[in-house]
Amino acid sequence: NFDKTSDHGVAETAYDAIHCKISAVKHGYFDDAFVECFEKKSTRRIPLIHRGYYLRHLAIEAVVDLFIQNRSTPIQILSLGAGFDTLFFRLIKNNVQNVSMFEIDCSAIVNQKIDILKMNMSKLFGNLFKCQEEMECFSATSTTSKFITAACDLGDLNTLEKCIKQHGFNAELPTLVLAECVLAYLAPLARSSLLQWASSTIKDATLVAYDPITLNSSFGAQLSSYFKAKGCTLRSVHSTIQEQEKQLIDLGWGSLRLYNMNAIYSVLAQPSERERMEKLEPFDEYEDWISCNHHYGFTVANNGGNLGSKVIQA
Ligand code: SAM
Repeated sequence: NFDKTSDHGVAETAYDAIHCKISAVKHGYFDDAFVECFEKKSTRRIPLIHRGYYLRHLAIEAVVDLFIQNRSTPIQILSLGAGFDTLFFRLIKNNVQNVSMFEIDCSAIVNQKIDILKMNMSKLFGNLFKCQEEMECFSATSTTSKFITAACDLGDLNTLEKCIKQHGFNAELPTLVLAECVLAYLAPLARSSLLQWASSTIKDATLVAYDPITLNSSFGAQLSSYFKAKGCTLRSVHSTIQEQEKQLIDLGWGSLRLYNMNAIYSVLAQPSERERMEKLEPFDEYEDWISCNHHYGFTVANNGGNLGSKVIQA
């Protein structure tokens, strides 16, 4: 019943994410030498948006770095709803070796990404990668690393597993499962099936997820109508951080940490870094910032390990 060409009305969000990232990079919030390959025209976003993307970037970078340091190579990254993410190119630029990236998204985004990759081959891959294009799938392989982007519906787990295995995904290898602002767009059953599939299929999986969360269901309803007005459907938004904790444990992620983004800022940004970031643009929407940060959550979970379960709010 699945149609990988269906974007469930959410593909457009990938364009919004890359535009916001470009604007945040241009204003000095974080470095990413590759975002501009993915979109040439971008309009300036407001400081509140820049700060949100800054925190999201900070959190993901920190977990990816930790994951790479703590695992012996080779490692895999399975990026669910990858959109125009540039993580693989940043890792290669930083000389990370032995990494295989499997990116999944719907056809509209993957086809667009393939066109962009082909137009920016030397900037993105240098000259060490051999590339191959198939139907709605593009791969680039060097002697140590591999990048695949393929079209698949995240609700179609049989096809997803077949597709990544066919391209060399090894469920025995330590794998970072990245879902940056994706899980909330899936229908609740598709979301839980996907998370259960990942925890039961991959031997040593670390889930990293960034999503809207809610403090109560009336805020959840408001957020849903806001996204509906923008033309997209936010389906799993009604869960609070505590509900997410319970769901993840039930789905096989025994070991987890859930943070809201205020906690991320206090845990991850050192005083000198805060001073640098806070000086970038005039800003006086502190109440809005604290409130937005309360309504976005960052999850790090493992299907083995011993992180223990903990909800961290600030
Ligand atoms: N992770 C990227 C980032 O943070 O820049 C993109 C995030 S964007 C908000 C959500 C992405 O999830 C979109 O690229 C969308 O096409 C993808 N997506 C949502 N539901 C999907 C589904 N059922 N199958 C495949 N991709 C899906």
